[in-house]
Amino acid sequence: MSKFFSEKFNNLTPYVPGEQPKGEFIKLNANESPYAPSPLGVELACEEAGKVNLYPDATLSALKETYATYLGVKPTEVIATNGSDDVLNFAFNAFCDNKTPAVFADITYGFYEVFAKLNGVKAKIIPLKSDFTIDVEAFKNAGGTIFLANPNAPTGISLSLAKVEEIIKANPNNVVVVDEAYVDFGGESAVKLINKYENLLVTQTFSKSRSLAGARLGFGIACEKLILDLETIRYSTNPYNINKMTMAMGIGSILDDGYFKTNCQKIIETRQFFVKKLEGLGFETLPSSTNFILTKNKKISGCELFKKIKENGILVRHFNSPRVRDYVRITIGEFVDMQKLFTVIEKIMEENSL
Ligand SMILES: *Cc1c(COP(=O)(O)O)cnc(C)c1O
Repeated sequence: MSKFFSEKFNNLTPYVPGEQPKGEFIKLNANESPYAPSPLGVELACEEAGKVNLYPDATLSALKETYATYLGVKPTEVIATNGSDDVLNFAFNAFCDNKTPAVFADITYGFYEVFAKLNGVKAKIIPLKSDFTIDVEAFKNAGGTIFLANPNAPTGISLSLAKVEEIIKANPNNVVVVDEAYVDFGGESAVKLINKYENLLVTQTFSKSRSLAGARLGFGIACEKLILDLETIRYSTNPYNINKMTMAMGIGSILDDGYFKTNCQKIIETRQFFVKKLEGLGFETLPSSTNFILTKNKKISGCELFKKIKENGILVRHFNSPRVRDYVRITIGEFVDMQKLFTVIEKIMEENSL
């Protein structure tokens, strides 16, 4: 750290992304999609690449209109950002301050804690229940801006829309941000509630279910007034937050709906197959509505399992925090890769019992 770095960042510990290794690893550690992006999106993006001497459209109107139509909302109820991390950061910036803390679960997306510190706001932490579900009652009248990942990460567990609505309803004086990064793999979206509740902001990403992690595209969906607040922040930081190629790829992905839905379905089926196979080896897996699972086996520690899987050329993720350190998080990849991983785990468990 240089002597010039502002004191206000003394407590800031940056987010640690999943490794992006060089070499021959099967990557099941960052919840990316194993499938290529929509071919239509790639084609549209290539056309745009020849035009980057000009700035992109700062209003993002074509992209907003396409996604708004898809969701059945108005373009003025949508903001598009550089990944959904960007809109989440805007929400911390816009809706939290020294009177309004950020409220989130003890086990949830690691970036919430980082964004709270980056924006200099306090965090109120609400522990998950012992079965790793959201403590809905504790989130009522929570006294701050709520950040709720639904389905949650890294547990993979989803909360019913009725329960999410209870939380929104019980915090009328605060914004409730519902982070739907994984909603396409089996969750229930809260988008249909945006006109019923002026305090609801839904965030979504094209990184997971739409194979665009490397293109960086996320969205916020809310009533017009909340979107205007977020647009004020966007225009005050970087109105050109989405480049021309990404905009084209996003539009292509939305138009190529069959491709998207088929890929989601394949992930869901592969997840179900893989969880069953692990169950046969004595693994306990939390019920997942996402493209990853959190799983453990009494016979081996999470850290040990992570290391042994890595020695076999496959990367998964281990979190060294007390409540989840017995587990590993495994992204659901292509069927053949999950078969390979299963063979590796089977071998590790056999060797372990000797
Ligand atoms: C991956 C993820 C995001 C954001 O991803 P982007 O690539 O920035 O869109 C947000 N929330 C959760 C819970 C995630 O897992």
